[in-house]
Amino acid sequence: MIVADNEVYEVIIVGAGPAGLTAGLYCKRAALKTVLFEKGLIGGQIAISKEVENYPGVEGITGFDLSEKLVHHARSFGLDIIQEEVAAVSAGPDFHSVRLGNGKVVRTVALILALGLTMRKLGVAGETEYFGAGVSYCGTCDGFFFRDKTIVIVGGGDTAVEEALYLSRLAGKVYLIHRKNTLRASNILQGRLMSEPRIEIIWNTIVTEIKGEAGVVNAVSAENILSGDKREIPTDGVFMFIGHSPNNQLIPPEVRTDELGYVITGEKCETSVPGIFAAGDLRKKFANQIVVAAADGCTAALAAAYYIETQKPGFLP
Ligand code: NDP
Repeated sequence: MIVADNEVYEVIIVGAGPAGLTAGLYCKRAALKTVLFEKGLIGGQIAISKEVENYPGVEGITGFDLSEKLVHHARSFGLDIIQEEVAAVSAGPDFHSVRLGNGKVVRTVALILALGLTMRKLGVAGETEYFGAGVSYCGTCDGFFFRDKTIVIVGGGDTAVEEALYLSRLAGKVYLIHRKNTLRASNILQGRLMSEPRIEIIWNTIVTEIKGEAGVVNAVSAENILSGDKREIPTDGVFMFIGHSPNNQLIPPEVRTDELGYVITGEKCETSVPGIFAAGDLRKKFANQIVVAAADGCTAALAAAYYIETQKPGFLP
């Protein structure tokens, strides 16, 4: 499908992860004139996940297959998914504008931003190669595969410690490798960490390489940054929790975010700008899970439909 310059939509969705695709499905079911733009992988982050075991009603599916299903489902209701970069978004009193990478500008009554987040990468050898084969950025998603096994966790913030505690209930042995001798995590979490016998903290140490055999992780190389001592730690998996950042580069300045850049919304996924909604990992909330992103997409779409009906009836030419 080719988008015409200056075309006006009732809803434009940016981002084709579970949040955006679910929003698209609901918008089309509500017969709203809708288009979805995605610059990268259709399906979002999950398209590269090895296995998804916690999406209700769908047992044992690869992330790629689940994203294919989401795409197929949304398209079956007539959603147009266009692989095109969005270069800029601006809020307006009547229409919000979306400038595409190809220079065209399209306008919309309601805008749903479902841009996701980016996990910070360690940047060491083996990290990309063994992603999905022992390297993970999500304990809830992949912890189950490491039942009674040995895992390494990298990081010293709240996420690393929370995930270490969670994963220690599944894994046989957990090494928490941190580059300092103090943790950034809250005292309460640190207290729990110290009393968990299955977790061993390795201080002042960085992971310099992730190694594997037969295509799966089997060790990390680590270096004590004070003494320079190097060692190899056998492990079945490596979980990186060294921070993440929302993909908020496109957010108009009028949209309120928290101090970390996550979009602040109300219960209808509405942002501080009327007609702009945020769904999925980009939105400040408690749990970043596929099912939550999908639920956000539903909420944002229903709220967008309600907004159009009540605030802008008959607005579309
Ligand atoms: P943080 O930015 O708080 O912590 C990142 C951790 O990773 C730090 O310990 C940092 O080390 C370490 N790190 C960063 N880069 C590297 C690197 N290249 N190599 C090795 N280590 C590295 O991220 P979190 O995801 O933990 O938390 C994000 C925010 O979310 C925080 O504000 C946190 O409080 C909040 N949060 C709150 C929770 C709760 O309240 N229950 C749960 C989870 C998160 P260093 O300390 O040396 O910089």
